[in-house]
Amino acid sequence: MVQDDYINFTIGKQKHIALIAHDTKKHELVEWVEENKEILKGHFLCGTGTTARLIVDHTGLPVKAYNSGPLGGDQQIGSRIVEGNIDFVIFFWDPLEAQPHDPDVKALLRICAVYDIPVANNRATADFLITSKFMNEDYERKVLNYNKVIHKRLEELR
Ligand code: PGA
Repeated sequence: MVQDDYINFTIGKQKHIALIAHDTKKHELVEWVEENKEILKGHFLCGTGTTARLIVDHTGLPVKAYNSGPLGGDQQIGSRIVEGNIDFVIFFWDPLEAQPHDPDVKALLRICAVYDIPVANNRATADFLITSKFMNEDYERKVLNYNKVIHKRLEELR
């Protein structure tokens, strides 16, 4: 990998974790959070509105609530990723049902890919992530250095 083609960002030992679940997956996520409460209490948690509230009610963990997903919560989480304030996502989306905010879901998953964010879309992946050795270490994620592309485009457009 050519070094300056990418910029490193550190995911610290304490992760900033976003928790999101579609309605048919909310119970599964709450159950998963309860199972992993001891680990999760060492990190900063946030989530879309309804998911966050359910997790707070059932587990007692502090979870910062953004707007509900259909009202822009996924987009808020995407913007926090862009700003570098969220660096880990657990998103149990429903593969069997269309959502009114499907474009927002797609946008969030795209931003996770652009910013090299670990993202679990189902329980098995969430189990693998939460038991990863990187949960207790810093991790350098690598984001494409887009400056070169911007410079080139500016040159062409001037
Ligand atoms: P909710 O949003 O937690 O407010 O239900 C989740 C989503 O549908 O993206």
